[in-house]
Amino acid sequence: MTTRPEPNGECPLCGAAVTVEEERCPSCGLARPAARGSAVVCRSGLWFLALMFVAIYALVLATVAAAR
Ligand SMILES: [Zn+2]
Repeated sequence: MTTRPEPNGECPLCGAAVTVEEERCPSCGLARPAARGSAVVCRSGLWFLALMFVAIYALVLATVAAAR
C-alpha cells in the first residue's frame, strides 16, 4: 500500500504518544508500537474478501433464480 502512515501513533500498551520513526515506546519500551498499519490493512483486506464473497454468492443466487 502507498498510503502514508500517520505521523504520530499511540502505544497500545501504555497509551503514550509515539512517532512511527521510533523503534520502541519511550514510556514502556514496547517494540514498534506505532507500526500497526499492517494489521489494519490486513483486517480491511479480510472484510473486502468477505464482501467480495457475499457479492459473488448473491450474483450466483440471482443467476440461478433468473434461469428458472
Ligand atoms: Zn508504551
